[in-house]
Amino acid sequence: MTTATDLFQELDVQTPAGNCRFCGANLQHTFVDLGMSPLCETYPSATELNRGETYYPLHVYVCEKCFLVQLDEYERAENIFSDYAYFSSYSDSWLRHAESYCEKMRARFGLGKDSFAVEVASNDGYLLQYFVQRNVRVLGIEPAANVAMVAVAKGVPTMVKFFGAQLAAELVETGHSADLVVGNNVLAQVPDLNDFVGGLKILLKPNGVLTLEFPHLLKLIERNEFDTIYHEHFSYFSLLTTVKIMEAHGLRVFDVEELQSHGGSLRVFACRAEAESHAVEPSVVRVIENELRAGLGTVDGYKKFGQQVKATKLALVEFLIKAAREGKSVAGYGAPGKSATLLHYCGIGKDLIEYTVDRNPHKQGRFLPGTHIPIYHPNRIQETKPDYLVILPWNLQNEIMEQLQHIREWGGRFVVPIPRATIL
Ligand SMILES: [Zn+2]
Repeated sequence: MTTATDLFQELDVQTPAGNCRFCGANLQHTFVDLGMSPLCETYPSATELNRGETYYPLHVYVCEKCFLVQLDEYERAENIFSDYAYFSSYSDSWLRHAESYCEKMRARFGLGKDSFAVEVASNDGYLLQYFVQRNVRVLGIEPAANVAMVAVAKGVPTMVKFFGAQLAAELVETGHSADLVVGNNVLAQVPDLNDFVGGLKILLKPNGVLTLEFPHLLKLIERNEFDTIYHEHFSYFSLLTTVKIMEAHGLRVFDVEELQSHGGSLRVFACRAEAESHAVEPSVVRVIENELRAGLGTVDGYKKFGQQVKATKLALVEFLIKAAREGKSVAGYGAPGKSATLLHYCGIGKDLIEYTVDRNPHKQGRFLPGTHIPIYHPNRIQETKPDYLVILPWNLQNEIMEQLQHIREWGGRFVVPIPRATIL
């Protein structure tokens, strides 16, 4: 017979968290629990507003064995990335970042007309176009057909595929081994991490170079960037854990650069473990030492994050409620994926942020997921002259403030929500 005590015990059982996607250990330590949120890159149109939307948990765990910070794959990657609204070329600073990368890689590794560069998750050709201009042969691999079509139209050959070990083997068999493999902001979005990293190694020529850029977990923690956690990002990496993952797949990390992009990213350079060139640079040890000092080498080091995040929420909501009580108008700028996490976790809707704007025409006329805050063309700001403009893609705040200096004419002020609500 089931007693009341048994029932309570059953109810007390935690949601099963599953196993680490890299090392397979049982996940039992919470990094942060951000509640429920819809998929962040699905922007409903006006006719879709009366339909229901599916919310998924944003409960992030840290693995006690390899310290990979991770989220379950609540929605299959195929369903998320096959028709994606993100076009890299809509950000000027990101284009400059891509061009400067291509020039640096060309100079450092002597890439020329006999070289072959592959970018995994090549988006709309925003990066490979600069190699094309430098006469380097390229191939983009991009799962979203609508985005890949834009790349092809620009003269960047692109395959519409998800990358993994099998595709890498097929490419090598058809003579497509690479001198340079680029993966920018893709590693976090890979559900089968081992298959993906295994594929990267297969694709590399014996002395080929792999570069991966991803948001740095250390910066995410230090700068409170909890809104970069969303369902499309399954994993969050320190260099410490990245080195372990690379080593498990016969790759050796030989250099790392700390970048300002996406709130603080790493650019990791790796090669085959047995490669004759590419001596390990002191930067690798330096970054790992910083991570160890910040506590990323023990599970306890990850556990303070939840409190920090809550403090950020309270400050932002306090500011918005005060503005509303004073009768000030508040609009948003940008409709990045990260806004879904921020707005849902903080419980902010149209009552506190009237509308937002975005330069991407694919988002204009649509609505933010869940909150249904409308997205307009940036001209709307000039028309309505809001008192406060909340910059949702805070990683582009300098670029946005430069473009929108004219809001000062009517006394408009910029607000950045993270690391702590600040009026600029
Ligand atoms: Zn693990």
